[in-house]
Amino acid sequence: MKLGIFALQGAFLEHEQAFDKLGVPWVEIRRKEHFTDGLDGIVLPGGESTVQGKLLREEGLLEPVKAAIQSGLPVFGTCAGLILLAEKLTNDDNVYFGTMNVTVKRNAYGRQLGSFRADLEVKPLGNFPAVFIRAPYIEKAEKNVEVLAECEGKIVAARQNNMLGVAFHPELTNDLRLHSYFLEMVRGK
Ligand code: GLN
Repeated sequence: MKLGIFALQGAFLEHEQAFDKLGVPWVEIRRKEHFTDGLDGIVLPGGESTVQGKLLREEGLLEPVKAAIQSGLPVFGTCAGLILLAEKLTNDDNVYFGTMNVTVKRNAYGRQLGSFRADLEVKPLGNFPAVFIRAPYIEKAEKNVEVLAECEGKIVAARQNNMLGVAFHPELTNDLRLHSYFLEMVRGK
């Protein structure tokens, strides 16, 4: 198995460390030529979605990656990564990959609550420590989207077939169960 971790901007190092601990090889994707055949899954890290989206567009990565996700390539998007996957953003006119049937609100928790921790119930993992940083949430999910976790009534983790999107940062805790869950998706594809 080999994963591609997008390393244009944001918290990609922590995902690399998480997959190192799980013994899974990965390569960094910064340019179009890094996005090669033979990747079994890809990771879209947190960061700033506008910056990431602009770089993806400039590098010519937006269309090939979108097509690969649509053909079933497993993808794990955290925070800004979830924003890149969303088919619609409530407070932003941009759409990036747009492959996941969710409407996402950016910076949804307001200025007072820029960053916070919450103990969530994540399906099927159980209690999970979640770190939110200027996080989005999913305002609306279509029927084909499985809701995996909510935080105060807002959807913060969801899966749609080959796509796993979470609003928080599992790579910033020592809990690797969501990374393992993604690996199960990759193995089961
Ligand atoms: N606020 C960021 C955005 O809108 C996401 C924050 C994050 O990835 N931690 O892109």
